[in-house]
Amino acid sequence: MAGIRFSQLIDNFITTIERYGSTVLQPEISSSRPANIRVITSEQVTDCKIFLWTITPGGGGPGVRPESERRIQMTNISGMPLWPGVRTLLGGWSQEFGVYAFWDARRHTKFSFRSPSLQVDANTLETAGTTGIATQFRPTKEGEEVVVAVAPGSLLWYVQNGLPLHNSQDDAAFVVDLAAASPEEERNFLDSAQSEIESARRYDLVETMRAFRDASFRPAVLQAYSYKCAVCNCDLKLVDAAHIVPITHPTSTDEVTNGIALCRLHHGAYDNALLGVKSDCQIVINPNMTNRLHEIGLDSGLEEFKSRLPDVIRVPASIEARPTPDRLRLGLKLRGWPEEQIA
Ligand SMILES: [Zn+2]
Repeated sequence: MAGIRFSQLIDNFITTIERYGSTVLQPEISSSRPANIRVITSEQVTDCKIFLWTITPGGGGPGVRPESERRIQMTNISGMPLWPGVRTLLGGWSQEFGVYAFWDARRHTKFSFRSPSLQVDANTLETAGTTGIATQFRPTKEGEEVVVAVAPGSLLWYVQNGLPLHNSQDDAAFVVDLAAASPEEERNFLDSAQSEIESARRYDLVETMRAFRDASFRPAVLQAYSYKCAVCNCDLKLVDAAHIVPITHPTSTDEVTNGIALCRLHHGAYDNALLGVKSDCQIVINPNMTNRLHEIGLDSGLEEFKSRLPDVIRVPASIEARPTPDRLRLGLKLRGWPEEQIA
């Protein structure tokens, strides 16, 4: 299988994470590794150096290497120096399975010989293609490492949140289960840790996999609302998937019906309990909040903000994707709205 040019691999990488809601800045287009990019979402700014190759079947011919072995061949570099504050990604794209795989850059800062290769099992790539994520604990001559494979829909999540997976060591086997775990299952996983170190590591892993679920919520909600704010209709890559029932509440879910697509302004106003959406989808302004803003002298722009609001939000065309009245009510209640406004 012929390798894809580095510039093309990076182009595809950037297009993928942009589609799922980030803005990517690339100060200079580089034809040699690494590519330097800045990935921006409403939650986070992540500076990355990306070393990417094409994943190919293992070399050496039949009988020499296991048939399920896939690998990248790290050509034209001598190691991956690490830069503080920068996420260094060491990975490959598998055309065969339509997924990315990443090794732990911290274990490959220097190479002892030229153009070494890094391996991953075809089963790991295949699992990532179906579940969105898979990990493989890999004991090697240079030490143990965790390889992480992700489907394109989970790439942005991996870039911003995936580092703890490389620290998961033998807990790596639980990652796929944690991707779909209930709060009770998460609790059992945490409580069965054998040491404080393991307990801390497991906690990181649970948090990371919660972010994974959140990351799958976003594309589903954005798609249901045609990537536009349900209040002002703007797109401009400034639209978030807001949870109606906040994720801290036990009944919160990552179903589309617990989401609304809101631009950064209206998302902020919704979470601050300034702007609300009633159970009939009517848009309301919270009098307690406007009084409070007035009291503390932070109400400039309020009249203009109010004058631009439509009466109701725009809901998804598909009825199954629309927010449920119960959730909309609970969403206001949990944000401290006065009882008479909640109906
Ligand atoms: Zn808006």
